[in-house]
Amino acid sequence: MKRHITQNAVVSMLLVLSLLFSGCTAPSSPAPSATPQQEEAAYQKYSRTNLSVFDTVITLTGFSQSQEDFDRAADRTFALLSEYDHIFDGYNEYEGLHNLYYVNRHAAEAPVVVPEALYDLIVWCKEKWDAGLRETNIAMGAVLSIWHEYRAAGMANPDAAKLPSEAELRAAGEHIDFNSIQLDPETRSIFFSDPAMTLDIGAVAKGYAADKAAEYLYQAMPSFLLSLGGNVYAGNAPKDGRENWAVGVQNPDIAQNSTIDILDVHDKTVVTSGDYWRYYTVDGQRYHHIIDPETLMPSRKMVSVTILCEESCLADFLSTTLFVLTYEEGRALADSMPGVEVMWILPDGTIEATEGMKQYARSMKNPS
Ligand code: AMP
Ligand code: MG
Repeated sequence: MKRHITQNAVVSMLLVLSLLFSGCTAPSSPAPSATPQQEEAAYQKYSRTNLSVFDTVITLTGFSQSQEDFDRAADRTFALLSEYDHIFDGYNEYEGLHNLYYVNRHAAEAPVVVPEALYDLIVWCKEKWDAGLRETNIAMGAVLSIWHEYRAAGMANPDAAKLPSEAELRAAGEHIDFNSIQLDPETRSIFFSDPAMTLDIGAVAKGYAADKAAEYLYQAMPSFLLSLGGNVYAGNAPKDGRENWAVGVQNPDIAQNSTIDILDVHDKTVVTSGDYWRYYTVDGQRYHHIIDPETLMPSRKMVSVTILCEESCLADFLSTTLFVLTYEEGRALADSMPGVEVMWILPDGTIEATEGMKQYARSMKNPS
């Protein structure tokens, strides 16, 4: 099924790449002594893009002392991401792997022992659910798969695009209770007490994988920037004299192929949920991929939400959550979470931001 990279993803990649390469110093040769400047001059910038993992365009940029060093770290990074992609894949099976696809097919028959990453991620989401954060509900697979089917059909054949019926959505909506997921930490197994439920971890999987890749990259590369579609992880400051990496916030008008703002960051992750990533059109109206668990329809309160913090899984979870909440609700939540900064773009074009976000966003910084 799926497994195709959207045109929007390619546009976004070009945007990230153009930002990465703007304002950079030319590569220079290693120097023998070790003043900070000379140390920096010992590093060159390298980049690699991969189109075959996580259904998106992934770009790793890093500073290394040689192409070989960079290649070694990049090989390992993409291998790691590919492992997580297989574990979190809900559409394909891989021999001997109890991945998401396998769980969705078999976890109502008997408990399924799963890889640690999948178990961890589900437990992490359950903690959020138990804490009352219920807008991002990974147990909503029954509803999300209906939207996925209609979207795929509508994209393939726009003239015949149609919406799922309310009855169909409501029937699926009976099977999205997180409490139907039974977790056994002893055996690391998952059981569905409701045979009609399935998991969809699309709202958090890339964030989880980005954190794991970043954990590896911190010890493998002096500085890196990893971009997985709407998820970016910026490591230590770039080794070219700049204090920060420049991470663009996409202009929701994708045809413009531009940024609405630029965040100057290091040691941070930036994750955006937007209504322009995946959508189809029915009767001139756009139906995108982020579904409000209350209405079971695409949420219309936001055009995009960008989260900046230090944990990509959290940023990914919150970008989806705040996309579904009103600005006021999301703002109250963000203000209660130290280290979490947010930029909202509302349907009327208004841009809102937390106070902390204004220290990173170029267009909002106080002139000094
Ligand atoms: P993101 O782009 O991180 O906001 O994630 C969107 C993806 O998460 C969608 O493609 C769906 O697979 C899934 N999703 C959509 N709405 C929800 C929701 N309310 N709760 C959990 N997952 C969702
Ligand atoms: Mg998300």
